[in-house]
Order: sequence, then C-alpha cells, then structure tokens
Amino acid sequence: MKVYLDNAATTRTKEKVIETMIPYFREVYGNPSSLHSAGQRANEALTEARASVAKNLGADTNEIYFTSGGSESDNQALRSAAEIGKRTGKKHIISTAFEHHAILHTLKRLQKEGFEITLLDVHENGIVRTDELEKAIRPDTCLVTVMYANNEIGTVQPIAEIGAICREKGVLFHTDAVQAAGHIFIDVKKQNIDMLSLSAHKFGGPKGVGVLYVKKGVPLTPLIEGGAQEKGKRAGTENLPSIMGMAEALREACAGMESNSVYVGRLRDKLIEGLSVIPHSVLNGDRVNRLPGNVSFCFEGIEGESLLLLLDDKGVQASSGSACTSGSLDPSHVLLAIGRVHDVAHGSLRLTLSEETTEEEIDYTIEAVKDTVDYLRSISPVWRDLINGKREFIL
Ligand SMILES: *Cc1c(COP(=O)(O)O)cnc(C)c1O
Repeated sequence: MKVYLDNAATTRTKEKVIETMIPYFREVYGNPSSLHSAGQRANEALTEARASVAKNLGADTNEIYFTSGGSESDNQALRSAAEIGKRTGKKHIISTAFEHHAILHTLKRLQKEGFEITLLDVHENGIVRTDELEKAIRPDTCLVTVMYANNEIGTVQPIAEIGAICREKGVLFHTDAVQAAGHIFIDVKKQNIDMLSLSAHKFGGPKGVGVLYVKKGVPLTPLIEGGAQEKGKRAGTENLPSIMGMAEALREACAGMESNSVYVGRLRDKLIEGLSVIPHSVLNGDRVNRLPGNVSFCFEGIEGESLLLLLDDKGVQASSGSACTSGSLDPSHVLLAIGRVHDVAHGSLRLTLSEETTEEEIDYTIEAVKDTVDYLRSISPVWRDLINGKREFIL
C-alpha cells in the first residue's frame, strides 16, 4: 500500500485545479500587461482570481499581491515592516521561537541590520501566550509576526486575540498562514491581520505561487524591481496559469473546509489514539488546538531518519521534524522550542493527512509505525541501555 502522509510538505494538485490551469497555457496566453484583446482577456482573468482570493480571506481585491509562494511573501512582509521601522525609528520585532525558516532567517538578517528581535516562548503545548506578547510590546516595536499554525506540530495560535492586541497598541501584525489557508478559518478583517502569507501548494494548488495580503494603507517594499505588475510592488510577468489554479484551489478548499476538517480530524484522532499506545512516546503540541490533519510524535530510543526510511519501504511517506536530512545534525528548532530534549527530538515523526486520506490507510499506518518502532528499538543500543536501567527514560 502507498500512503502519502506528508501533506504539510506539499499536497497533490487537485484535478479540477489542473483543468482550470490548462486554458491559460493553450488559449489565454496573452500577457496581462498587453493592450490587445489577448492581453486584456488575461488581465480580466487575473482580476477575477484576485477578487476570488480576496473573498476567501475576507480581504479587499486591491489588498491581494501575487508572489512566488510562502517564502517570498514572508520575506516581503518582514522587509516591508522593517522599512517602516527604519523610517519611524522603531527597530524592535516580536516573533516566536518556532516560526518557519523563511521568517527566522529573515529576522536573523534584520538583526544584523540593527533590529532587536524578541522571540516569544511557545511553551510545551506549542502555543504563544497573549499576556506574554502584550508584555513584550514596546514603544519601539514595529512588527509582531506569529505563524497561524505550525508546520511541524500543527498547533494553532490565538490569531484573533493577537490581532486585537496589536491593533490596540498600534503595532503591525503579520501572520505566516501557509499551513492554515484553505484548512481552517481565516478572516483578515475580523482577526485584525495587517499582513498574511499563503502558498498554493499547501492546499491543493500548484507549486511556486502564493499570496501576500497587505491591509490598505500599509506600504509595501518590493523585493523584485522591474515592471509595474502588482502595483509596482512585485515585478515580473504574472504566472497566470498558476494564479488561476491557486484561486480555484483556495475556492475549493474553503468551500469544503467544514466537512473536510470533520473528516480529516476524525482520522487524525484515530491515528493519535493508535500511536499513543506505543510506550515511551509523546504527542507533540496541543491535543485540541491543532490542525485537523497534523499528527506529530516523538518516540524515545530511535532515530527519526531510520524510522522514515523503513516506513517508506512499507509505502508510508512521512516526515521527521529533525533537520538531519538537510545535512545538519541539529534536531528541529520547533521540537526544541516546545522543550523536547535533543535525544527525544531526534526520534520524531510527522504524519500529515488530507481529505484524500482513507481510514484503511490510517489503519495500515498505525500498524506500520508500531512494527517499525518495535524493530528499531530491538536493534538500538540506546534502547538496551534504557531497558537495562543504564540510562533513564525521559518519556
Ligand atoms: C511551506 C511553508 C512555507 C514556505 O512556502 P513555499 O511556498 O514553499 O515557499 C512557509 N511557511 C510555512 C509555515 C510553511 O509550511
């Protein structure tokens, strides 16, 4: 059996999305900036897509900017806020310890440019505390950036509360909503969000296209200079097929959100229950405030990488929180941020579901993970030491 449980890394592009895209290669291939009718047709489609995306986020059409994806949107949001900060003499930014690297690495660069960064604790449940955020805000704070839902452990942040606090204090609020968009409720107006990033390939759309929502009146700084596309804030001929596909994917995801989250949430709970019986294991992140499709565990005494490879042999495609695959031996910054010690963080497994996941696949996966953890422990010298009492169990 082949089971794809890595939907937080990327999703399969929906059939309907692919069908929506094809005419924009074959027929409506004009450049939206061209004045002839072919160009105008393309431009009309672009406007429709922008309006549709805006509607699904609770935004106005002119607040939507198309980008190449989540990373670009995150970079541009932070760069733009930093430019405002430089002009107003406010050089303090608040974020969290478990953001995506598109945020954390940009913050690191801004720090080198003289910004002071405060990273809020996300505690063992993987959720920021709004009282701690409130205390961290200073007169020189130019930006609060807190992700909507975490990509590794799936915890959902109190976005509306954070938005209300930032609005009251007059501080810009950006959220990386890449894992949330199309999966859980978003309304940028109701939640007082000033800037929001999303990426199409995380909700059934194509890769390499995303959105930066920017509230009217917040000045954007372009990362790419050139033509006048996207009101001069993001140059380059628009990727119309992908933009049309993204708009369709978001429309579909938002229309099916309620029923999908009930269905996926039930499978998630079954998977969590099934894996919880494995001794010396722990669920990462809050049990309730988490994405409908996220299951993240740590198993003591094993290596996440070995677990992944053996599961792949059994047809189960998953992910590990650890960054070892990227050539570094550091465990995931997310797992460390919720207080997992190195040894435990190394034995992590992330399984992320979609509405295409079946109950049969979940049953199969539970057995596959149990068997593989058992096997890896049976050959692990660390496990032998734990069992013999030469080393103490942490979990
Ligand atoms: C995937 C992801 C990104 C990056 O998006 P890309 O479109 O792949 O650049 C950023 N933030 C989070 C939370 C993500 O999950």
